[in-house]
Amino acid sequence: MFRTIDAFDVKGKRVLVRADLNVPSKDGKVTDSTRIDRSAATLKELAERGAKVIVLTHFGRPKGREDKYSQKLLLEPLAKAVGQAVAWADDCIGPDAEAAIAKLKDGDIALLENVRFHPEEEKNDPAFAQALAKLGDLYVNDAFSTAHRAHASTEGLAHLLPAAAGRLMQVELEALAKALGTPEKPVAAVVGGAKVSTKLDLLGNLVSRVDYLIIGGGMANTFLFAQGKAVGKSLCEKDMADTAREILDKAKAAKCHIVLPVDAVVAAEFAENAANKVVSVDAVPDDMMILDAGPASIEAIIDRLGGCKTLVWNGPLGAFEINPFDTATNAVARAAAERTKQGKLLTVAGGGDTVAALAKAGVDEDFSYVSTAGGAFLEWLEGKTLPGVAALEIKSGGGCGCGHSH
Ligand code: AMP
Repeated sequence: MFRTIDAFDVKGKRVLVRADLNVPSKDGKVTDSTRIDRSAATLKELAERGAKVIVLTHFGRPKGREDKYSQKLLLEPLAKAVGQAVAWADDCIGPDAEAAIAKLKDGDIALLENVRFHPEEEKNDPAFAQALAKLGDLYVNDAFSTAHRAHASTEGLAHLLPAAAGRLMQVELEALAKALGTPEKPVAAVVGGAKVSTKLDLLGNLVSRVDYLIIGGGMANTFLFAQGKAVGKSLCEKDMADTAREILDKAKAAKCHIVLPVDAVVAAEFAENAANKVVSVDAVPDDMMILDAGPASIEAIIDRLGGCKTLVWNGPLGAFEINPFDTATNAVARAAAERTKQGKLLTVAGGGDTVAALAKAGVDEDFSYVSTAGGAFLEWLEGKTLPGVAALEIKSGGGCGCGHSH
């Protein structure tokens, strides 16, 4: 249970909003304003409700104050997104920030300079958090994507001011709770991507939470190898075979059914339109590599999803960046999207390449929720407590039920 901005009477109050406006840029210009546009809803609502809105964010990874990481370039796209002028302060604490905030009228919005210009931000330094807290009456965290970091503006502040989740954070937390907290069963997870080693905690948590764990991508090769199959030149972490077998054992004990590919699309090289053929996973040629799941595997996965009510997805089922090895990812994603549109399946996806893979399949708008949060989404799937989220919990509300310890 967490507080939302519905709980606040914000009129006339100085509201510090931690957003994630860490957008891509080139030559001092924002190249993709998606994050800014998405953040606008909370900022606009607070301004319309009469708050003095003060936006905190980081931009890049500066080492102290570095001009190339100044957030001034965000002012124009932010003003456009919220549909009003945005005031500016050259620092996020101290006299510059105080002066800019003192000038704000109810309904105004200000953006402060990069919180990471102060190394104390990432250290969650109490004095720095106090200096931020002095600038506001209320704190709103709308940056789920940085919630896995206990920094002053993402965690420390929540202990110093009345704190609530912004609308973006709220939607993300609600989607994740539906997918893994109190999901409608049966629940399936699709986990793909390159390596088992980067997703050990995630696999470990999911086997005890889902009914079907569908494993694809490069990491499936390691599982096939662990089962004694020859995988030719495929990407495969042979030293992870014992770990893969442990995950299979854990799944069995938890009554989680593991679905591995039964056939594969193989090629001699990792290249666009490389000559390829479909083989059984028992007959992968020595000089070829698995680059995608085959048609029988696709059919089995789609069949399996047909009986499920909830799907969590992280990682592509093949080397989706190069054609035609995006076939399995596209087919399964489209089938899941179709069932979502029919109201038969709740689909929550996210993390790293997953967003790009679903966008390439043309279904990113059709899933119930696609998280762009990367690291924070993965840590959530791993069952870890996200400090930025835990700090917003209403203490008497009990746990979220996702395997998280908060
Ligand atoms: P991840 O970041 O762990 O989700 O991994 C995504 C990457 O895994 C993508 O770049 C895919 O091309 C890659 N990948 C998926 N399946 C395979 C495969 N069978 N062989 C090599 N790379 C793969």
